[in-house]
Amino acid sequence: MIKVLEDLVDALSTLPAIGKKSAWRLAVHLMERPKDEVASLADAILRAREELTRCKRCFSYSEKEICPVCESSSRDQRCICVVEKAIDIFAIEKVGRYRGVYHVLGGVLSPLNGITADKLKLKELKDRVILENPGEIIIGFGGSADAETTALYIARIFRDIDIKITRLARGMPAGMELEYVDQLTLSQALNERTEITYGNE
Ligand SMILES: [Zn+2]
Repeated sequence: MIKVLEDLVDALSTLPAIGKKSAWRLAVHLMERPKDEVASLADAILRAREELTRCKRCFSYSEKEICPVCESSSRDQRCICVVEKAIDIFAIEKVGRYRGVYHVLGGVLSPLNGITADKLKLKELKDRVILENPGEIIIGFGGSADAETTALYIARIFRDIDIKITRLARGMPAGMELEYVDQLTLSQALNERTEITYGNE
């Protein structure tokens, strides 16, 4: 076997959603492209990895300390949508309806997998809410059981704070992560969001 090609296939198949077969297809494709094209792809990957950091306020990806959404005067800075992962922001932005800002939690509670509250940006969320005093927190999670538990956990954190907490409307496909939800469903789920109050859920 050709070791250098096998190494490339192994490296590519560590990427999400890339199985061995796709990795082979990608590797062969890359080997057939001009060298400078492959070099600029490699450079783009490295540059993004080196230059992207996390926004200090919302923990989304950013080139600067504060991301463009957090900095924008055309966004409603008093409405915070809490999402599991930064990729969920891209899903919501694609819908093009949401005008507020975000808070990336870094996952949802999953004690069986070792994801406890201290592993997520929950304390940061509480500190931020106390500091910024927003009018609304939208819990923008997908439909997994862990996401549900986390939503109630967040409602409990803020039970003594005067803030409106809403969640995406029911009808988010059960068990589905937000990034895979289609735009129409997501748009409706945002429009028809419902308030949650700790204690009556
Ligand atoms: Zn930000």
